Amino acid sequence: MDDWTVLGYLVAAVLFILGLKRLSRPRTAVRGNQFSATGMLIAVVVTLADNAILSFEWIIAGLVVGAAAGALLAVRVQMTAMPELVALFNGFGGGASVLVAAASYLEAVDLGDDPARLSGAAALAALIGAVTFTGSLIAFTKLREALRWSGFPGMRVVTVGATVAVAAFAVLMVVDSSSLWLWLLVALGALLGVLTVLPIGGADMPVVIALLNSLSGLAAVAAGFVLDNSLLIIAGSLVGASGLILTQIMCVAMNRSLPAVLFSPAPSSGGGPSADDVYAGKVRSTSPDDVAMLLESAERVAIVPGYGLAVAQAQHAVRDLTRRLEERGSEVVFGIHPVAGRMPGHMNVLLAEAEISYERLVEMDDINPTFEQTDVTIVIGANDVVNPVARTDPNSPIAGMPILDVDRSGVVVIIKRSLSPGFAGIPNPLFAGDNSLMLFGDGRQAVVDITKALQEI
Ligand code: NDP
Repeated sequence: MDDWTVLGYLVAAVLFILGLKRLSRPRTAVRGNQFSATGMLIAVVVTLADNAILSFEWIIAGLVVGAAAGALLAVRVQMTAMPELVALFNGFGGGASVLVAAASYLEAVDLGDDPARLSGAAALAALIGAVTFTGSLIAFTKLREALRWSGFPGMRVVTVGATVAVAAFAVLMVVDSSSLWLWLLVALGALLGVLTVLPIGGADMPVVIALLNSLSGLAAVAAGFVLDNSLLIIAGSLVGASGLILTQIMCVAMNRSLPAVLFSPAPSSGGGPSADDVYAGKVRSTSPDDVAMLLESAERVAIVPGYGLAVAQAQHAVRDLTRRLEERGSEVVFGIHPVAGRMPGHMNVLLAEAEISYERLVEMDDINPTFEQTDVTIVIGANDVVNPVARTDPNSPIAGMPILDVDRSGVVVIIKRSLSPGFAGIPNPLFAGDNSLMLFGDGRQAVVDITKALQEI
């Protein structure tokens, strides 16, 4: 590498680090993104200008295909499908590391070079990349709620067997340079990704998404060692480390340890009481006018958003309702559960889009003790994060997950379209609670109707 390349990489690395630092606060996050994107642009230009590039035709072809696919996705993918897309991107990162490692290793074997120099790093990149690729594809289908299958009897034995075999193939790849071991390693790594993520569901999914994100970074680090590229090692380390921190935060939020998530996943669907048993004759529905009457005299109102808020795109309507309530003298707070929605920070991003200030968003541990002093809590499109079964049924898919204790407030109004379950697929006794009222309908329309009714009082 010449001095200019080293200098360019150094500037790019500094921009990555400054960008990541600024992402830690909503006010500086946009600037943080700009810093990181500029760093990436410098990294790409410097790498292209470096003599090590083989052929520009392939690079241009890759740019055209990649840019077309990216533009198509950006235009077509709905905001609600973002979490799935992020899962897919993690997978592509892992897949790319497999290809980089395999290409470098096979080239060294073909040229008769001694691939032992890079075989350790190539084995790691191929293995972690393959696990990330297929694991992310399974996570993608689970997030789309297109896959509820959690495995087959004896799967754990197969997983242990596959783990032992990949370790053996990785060692063989290092001691005996042959492409056979590489392909066997990639194939079994891919199988391991499927076997590891398949049984995970319910409250454990957010942890796995964060972990896969981290693994995509670690695969890039290993690919960086294969290519002897310091910038790839730095960028991969940043992704890997931040993903690990997020994994830890999610584990704490879910009250689970990482080994427990990976090796003894919660059951994917509950064997608890049926929806009929939980709801029959006990659910009371209400109307926007009645909710407006309740709110009219409420001094303190809590709003709890969930995934349905994102589906309904109700954030702007919620902001208008909040303003109306405050004009009437009510105090309004938002209760944010760490795994509400389908990706970490999902609710914060949505509410920020509607310019609802971060100061109003109260984290679960802080808001829970205040529900008893709250007159009305409005739950909009949330289900699992307010399901009291998490406290009571140790066999449920969300067992042990801390929840927002909305059932302790004076009245709970739950806005959703039906009595359908949330991501974990289980009934929610909150909907049949003594102080619960169901307002059936689309989240946005229901909030608009309540605001209108409140204006007319
Ligand atoms: P849930 O998935 O539990 O429930 C969402 C509810 O929204 C559904 O019951 C649905 O009911 C309702 N809904 C859907 N569309 C609308 C609409 N247009 N208007 C009103 N309501 C609507 O969401 P939560 O946020 O409570 O919980 C998140 C779940 O996702 C947890 O189980 C978590 O573990 C999991 N998860 C979270 C991730 C994260 O990182 N945050 C990642 C992966 C999984 P109906 O159809 O009746 O309207």
